[in-house]
Amino acid sequence: MNLRSKHHILVVVIALLATGCHASRATDKPVKTVLEVSATIETEPVRTQGDSADDATLWVDPTDPSLSLVIGTNKQRGLAVYDLNGKEVQFLSDGRLNNVDHRDNFPLGGQKISLVTASNRTDNSIAVYRVNPETRRLENVAARSIATVEAYGSCMYHSQKTGKFYYIVTNKRGEVEQLELFDNGKGMVDARRARLFKLGTQLEGCVADDELDQLYIGEEAIGIWKYPAAPDASAPPTKVDGVLPAGNLKADVEGLTIAYQNDGRGYLIASSQGNNTYVVYRREAGNAYVKTFRIVPGNGIDGVSETDGIHVFAAPLGPQFPHGVFIAQDGVDDKGTQNFKLIPWQSIVNE
Ligand code: CA
Ligand code: CA
Ligand code: CA
Ligand code: CA
Repeated sequence: MNLRSKHHILVVVIALLATGCHASRATDKPVKTVLEVSATIETEPVRTQGDSADDATLWVDPTDPSLSLVIGTNKQRGLAVYDLNGKEVQFLSDGRLNNVDHRDNFPLGGQKISLVTASNRTDNSIAVYRVNPETRRLENVAARSIATVEAYGSCMYHSQKTGKFYYIVTNKRGEVEQLELFDNGKGMVDARRARLFKLGTQLEGCVADDELDQLYIGEEAIGIWKYPAAPDASAPPTKVDGVLPAGNLKADVEGLTIAYQNDGRGYLIASSQGNNTYVVYRREAGNAYVKTFRIVPGNGIDGVSETDGIHVFAAPLGPQFPHGVFIAQDGVDDKGTQNFKLIPWQSIVNE
């Protein structure tokens, strides 16, 4: 029996145990099976021992998507850039960069550039880079050392209504600071605070839905909250999901990411670190639960556990990832220090 079928049997046994002998009663909660998928590519191991890799984003090369870049943090040392084969092509020793995100079409020096930001825990600042599309390398474009509240999680938001770009930082004190990013007039990026608010307990993962103007925030021990992303909005937050047994997540709630489809459809995905799974919700109003999956060994690559950051891109990326890719940080690699795993998107959602 191979490992995959063992896992399937285990899932069935757990499902039977969970339902006891009342499985046929119509009033019982439906049993949730856990989809199992496997990576097809893993990145080179990170340069430091221990908990190091954390969060990733994907820059999509507009001329040839197969040349796209995975940008991953090493929270002890800096930022690594990998090609879609997992080979490290650049490393920036720029501090304890914890979370990373990026947005295309940022106006800088008369051009539209791809802007990458990361939360720097070394000095509680924003690390800011552009992707040079000619060299496919990151270049520092921070106008100065831009201080924020205590840095921990971070994400970006590009308002389709106002055209403004924002950096959002979250932290262990429950604070959320949103800063507007802008060209300082000299082709470098500066920022100013747009709002500051506070939740009850430790935060980290966040993601903005640029089209629906929503900001999702992970409160690690509690669940996922949805806020209006516009800094001047006043609507109260709503709770998307909580932790087990009432919810579908097991603390810590970690990375969050969004898969965009047409017409406002798509998916919100969360790393449920406490049980090494990922929970998929609809992106549309109500954020209905869709499924739970885990990443098991396959294709000669180990499974994934203790995931912090995740990222999804749900559109063609060349022959390796014809429908897109899901990227997960792996807390324990079988061969060395931590790394990132790349999973074909169609093995998670096939539509
Ligand atoms: Ca970790
Ligand atoms: Ca965390
Ligand atoms: Ca692993
Ligand atoms: Ca491995």
